[in-house]
Amino acid sequence: MSECIFCAIADGTIDATIVAEADDWVAFKDLHPQAPTHVLVIPRTHVPSLAQLSDPDLARALLLACAEVAEDQGLEAGYRVLTNTGEEGGQAVSHLHFHVLGGRRMGWPPG
Ligand code: AMP
Ligand code: ZN
Repeated sequence: MSECIFCAIADGTIDATIVAEADDWVAFKDLHPQAPTHVLVIPRTHVPSLAQLSDPDLARALLLACAEVAEDQGLEAGYRVLTNTGEEGGQAVSHLHFHVLGGRRMGWPPG
């Protein structure tokens, strides 16, 4: 089994509630949702964080995936996409992931 939990979800060795997927990304429900809808969008390949994302095609696919997931989840009233990056950015899992949050009004600034 992969030592990276999100690689393991991407290759199916750890269960997750997958809501959408494509050749280069997977979207699944966050285990500890912070909003009525909380989905994580990850690349299938191991990219540690946004700071190491260099493939423009993958970057495009991930961003479009977030919008696609938000539409599929019925978030027409609005939603938030974010990626915590590095220690001060609050990143706990070192495999690039975009949070897609919606279903409630978002506060600003984030904590
Ligand atoms: P971050 O702090 O941006 O690295 O966020 C990591 C996110 O991954 C958190 O919101 C966790 O709840 C979520 N998470 C951790 N393990 C799992 C898992 N096995 N399945 C789904 N979500 C997870
Ligand atoms: Zn990984």
